[in-house]
Amino acid sequence: MTGPTHDEAHGGALGSRLNWLRAAVLGANDGIVSTAGLVVGVAGATDSRTALLTAGLAGLLAGSMSMAAGEYVSVSTQRDSERAALAQERRELREQPEAELRELTELLRARGLSQEVARDAARQLTARDALRAHASVELGIDPDALTNPWHAAWASFLAFTVGALLPLLAIVLPPPGLRLAVTVLSVLAALVLTGFSSARLGAARPGRAVLRNTAGGALAMAVTYAAGALLGAAGA
Ligand SMILES: [Zn+2]
Repeated sequence: MTGPTHDEAHGGALGSRLNWLRAAVLGANDGIVSTAGLVVGVAGATDSRTALLTAGLAGLLAGSMSMAAGEYVSVSTQRDSERAALAQERRELREQPEAELRELTELLRARGLSQEVARDAARQLTARDALRAHASVELGIDPDALTNPWHAAWASFLAFTVGALLPLLAIVLPPPGLRLAVTVLSVLAALVLTGFSSARLGAARPGRAVLRNTAGGALAMAVTYAAGALLGAAGA
């Protein structure tokens, strides 16, 4: 609820660092829940450690690569449209500087400055760096801080992988009699942690976030375990 304003209040650098951190926590959360559901489902059907390891590893790789690819595509698209907007702004500034000065004045006035102060501010900003002023006031873009799609893709890949490793190791390392209990307990504990952190990073109250997050993970494991157990019992 107070997330965006909270981040904006800290200004660019810290705000975007918090957003990155929050994205990393959510990516790890995805890795935990989807891989836990996968390996617990397989554990419902079979005791084979090879089957569990294969399923967990395949889930880890498929999930982290699909997250990375999705992030790459979405950030590339966003960067393309930001670059196009900046190019158009540059053209407008060259072809109709007067109209652009009026536009900037109007935008500053709409933000609460008086006509006179707005005109002064617009002149000073234009004299200093017109493109940067229009990018920030009009488009909400920092031309020096366009997100690199490869960085975003790597970050998602790593975050998901770190999350997915937990249920994968928890299901293959302990002896067969303990593997389910160890996995369920460590996954729930990790989901308390990720739910708490993502709520705190978004400046929301952690109580409900933790409850929703662990309930979601518990449900995922219960459903896949039931499905695996049914298939295993049917000898499929
Ligand atoms: Zn403009």
